[in-house]
Amino acid sequence: MTKKRRRLPALIKDMGSCLFKKPFTQEYPFVSVQAPEGYRGRQTFDPEKCISCGLCERDCPAKAIELVEVSGKRMPYFYLDRCIFCYQCAEGCPRNAIQLSTNFEMSTTEKDELLVKAEEFISKQNISSDEGQ
Ligand code: SF4
Ligand code: SF4
Repeated sequence: MTKKRRRLPALIKDMGSCLFKKPFTQEYPFVSVQAPEGYRGRQTFDPEKCISCGLCERDCPAKAIELVEVSGKRMPYFYLDRCIFCYQCAEGCPRNAIQLSTNFEMSTTEKDELLVKAEEFISKQNISSDEGQ
């Protein structure tokens, strides 16, 4: 008997037992999933801390950051379609204005949605300070 034939009963037994086991895969996106601590996801940015030094733009190896004039101050725009999530920008920022996040949900068919503008964080900050009043 060949090796292949001897393995066949064991294979059928395994297949049969798998039919009654819970699947190992997760039901994402129907069930939300939390990325582990330290996961390098989408950046967050604090416009209040930014001093427009331009180090993030200069150090980014993927040219995924562009400093743009926003509210009289030059602040980063993040091009996530180019970003390799190395986090050089966060490590090099002298004011810790760029922070890690575990948000990995970036899949889209619209390239424009992968441009993260500094304005998004300004409006978020205004909303949270308004709520605190
Ligand atoms: S390195 Fe930090 S402080 Fe400098 S421009 Fe970038 S985000 Fe702003
Ligand atoms: S994580 Fe890396 S590639 Fe992405 S914007 Fe920052 S420095 Fe550039």
